[in-house]
Amino acid sequence: MWQVVGQTRAVSLLQRSLESGSLAHAWLLIGPAHVGKMTLALNLAQALNCEASAPPCGECASCQKIASAKHADVQIIGLTSNGDSAESKPRAEISIDQIRQMQHSASLPPFEGKYKVFIVDGAEHLSDEAANCLLKTLEEPVSKVIFILLTTNERLLPTTVTSRCQRLELSPLSVPEVEAALNRDWGTEPQRARLLARFSHGCLGWAILAASDDSLLRQRAEKLDRLLNIINTDYEERFAYTAQLVAKFSQNRGLVQEILDLWLDWWRDLLLVKVGCNDIITNVDRAAMLTEMARGYDLAQIKAFINSIQAAGEQLRLNANPQLVLEVLMLSIPGKER
Ligand SMILES: [Zn+2]
Repeated sequence: MWQVVGQTRAVSLLQRSLESGSLAHAWLLIGPAHVGKMTLALNLAQALNCEASAPPCGECASCQKIASAKHADVQIIGLTSNGDSAESKPRAEISIDQIRQMQHSASLPPFEGKYKVFIVDGAEHLSDEAANCLLKTLEEPVSKVIFILLTTNERLLPTTVTSRCQRLELSPLSVPEVEAALNRDWGTEPQRARLLARFSHGCLGWAILAASDDSLLRQRAEKLDRLLNIINTDYEERFAYTAQLVAKFSQNRGLVQEILDLWLDWWRDLLLVKVGCNDIITNVDRAAMLTEMARGYDLAQIKAFINSIQAAGEQLRLNANPQLVLEVLMLSIPGKER
C-alpha cells in the first residue's frame, strides 16, 4: 500500500511506470512544504526495493528499514544530511561535496536492496556547483539507480537539471481530506482535527506535526497577532517589520511565504465574512474578531488587498527584490472605512 494520503494521480503514474518497467531514472517532485513529497519519495524507494509481491507492502524488512531511514541503499541528501551529527547546524546550501559523495555511492552496486535511491530534499538549495555536478549524473543514467529531487519551487533550479527529470506535481489535499486523515489515521481529537485541517492549507504533514507539537499552533498565533498589529501602525513601524522579514527571507524563503499565506487566509476570511460565508472561514478560532474587523472595510478594499498579497507572493517566487515587494505590500494595506 502506498502510504501517502491522496495524491492519487501521482501514485497511479508511479505505479504504472513501475509495472511497465519504464520508470524514469530521475524524478522531480514539486509541491508546498509538508504536502507529502518525502513520504511519496520514500514510498517509491520502498516500491523499488520491496520483497513482497505487491510493492510497496510497508511491512517487509526492506520497507521497514526504508521507513526508519536505515536502508543502506536509500540515501537522503539535504540541508541536514544523514551523515551530520545531531549537534551540527543545518547547512545554508547543498554543497558540491555532498553531490560528489552521492555520485561515488551511486557508482557502487546496491548493497542490500535491488535499487539505489537518492533523495535530494530541498533541491532548490543546491549550490550552483552542486547543481552542475548533479547534472552530469542525470545526463548519464546508471541502471538500478534512481534520483528523486524534492522542491517547493522548481523555478529556483536550473532548467538544465529540471529538464532531465520526470516532473510530478503534488497538490494540497482538501480541508475535509486532511480532517478525515487526522481522525482516521492519527486519532486526533475531532475538534482539534477540524482546526488543524483548516490551518494546514491541505498540507497533511504540517497538520500531523502540529497535532503532536503545540508550539506550532502557538507560533502561528503569534505571527498572526503581529500581522494584525501591523494594520494599525504607521509606516515607520511597518517598514521596520519589513526589514525583519527581509532578513529572514535571506535565510529561509519558506518562512516569509508562510507569513504571506497567513495573511492571505486572514483577508480571505474577511471576504467570506463580508459575503456571509462564515462557515468556511479558516480562522474558526477568531470568528468574532473577523466579524468585527470586516465591518471596517468594504468589499473592494478587501479584494484589492488579497490581490496585493497574491502578487507579492508571486513576485517573491520569481526572485524579485524582497524588500521592494514587501514594502509595496505594506503601503497597500487598506485604511479602515470608519
Ligand atoms: Zn515491502
